[in-house]
Amino acid sequence: MLSIVVPVLNEAESLAELHRQILAACRDTGIEFEVIFVDDGSTDGGWATIRQLANDDARVRGVRFRRNFGKSAALTAGVARATGDLILTMDADLQDDPAEIGAMLRKLESGFDVVNGWKIRRLDPWHKVYPSKVFNALVGWMTGLKLHDHNCGIKLCRAEVWRELRMYGERHRFIPVLAHARGFRVTEVPVHHRPREFGHSKFGAKRFVRGFLDLMTVAFLNGFGQRPQHLLGGLGLLSAGIGALGLLFLGFIWLLMNVFHVLTPAPIGQRPLLLYSAVLLLLGAQITSLGLLAELIVANTGRDEQAFSVLEETA
Ligand code: UDP
Ligand code: MG
Repeated sequence: MLSIVVPVLNEAESLAELHRQILAACRDTGIEFEVIFVDDGSTDGGWATIRQLANDDARVRGVRFRRNFGKSAALTAGVARATGDLILTMDADLQDDPAEIGAMLRKLESGFDVVNGWKIRRLDPWHKVYPSKVFNALVGWMTGLKLHDHNCGIKLCRAEVWRELRMYGERHRFIPVLAHARGFRVTEVPVHHRPREFGHSKFGAKRFVRGFLDLMTVAFLNGFGQRPQHLLGGLGLLSAGIGALGLLFLGFIWLLMNVFHVLTPAPIGQRPLLLYSAVLLLLGAQITSLGLLAELIVANTGRDEQAFSVLEETA
């Protein structure tokens, strides 16, 4: 059974046509399915259409947020209500083509947990296409998962993948990365992309910056085995270590000059070095304490409880 989750923000004109195309695509593949539309605070009357679709077709359900909470929240709410063992997420604006579902299912069956779409010929304005190319290169470089189109709207996942993803902020951009970090098998297939016919894009520069900031935490999580606070610990120890080395060196010079009387006059300006070393040592102690605090918070709030991912178990 396939659950199709569609986040919707002001896409009223597309919904009925999208429903029709999904029906046609699923009829072709012969798969049993349900569609969950999540209205993320639309103000264009789209909810009435969703209600109507749900009324006419028992396979359709709708969820309506009180206000706009963002695409990640909408996906999470939809997936939480999904009953299928496969979950397809796709945009509501008819830019993603439901006709791709068959090819994506076949790819998943060939041994993957996540099949990510790849808009080979992306039909969006250049000011979306080029930042997105940079974004994909950056994400690939920072996380080690090289995909052409991390943030493609259409994605097919096994339900267990979604059960383990912890979504917040703008993390829908990193679904393949988060899945990959937990050991799921991620791949991509080329998909057909269509220009936006109705309405306008909801993702501008502001959301791009937020997504970029999320990349930092996601990359840290990947690089530090789910414990970004270890970066603070590492930096702090490094800083304190350099400071301590400086002080040791100064102590050594002091001994040579004042106890062994080998060095006269002083070989270096010792005051600035003393100052720098002391500052580095103190700074290091502070940063390390910050890391410790973060670790304590994480440990005591149980936010680290899902630090593993089980593949199989015996009865
Ligand atoms: N969307 C949403 N909540 C938001 C922003 C967008 O549910 O806060 C939905 C939107 O209705 C669409 C999908 O997310 O179905 C992708 O948005 P859009 O097409 O505007 O993004 P683009 O294709 O321009 O990157
Ligand atoms: Mg779109």
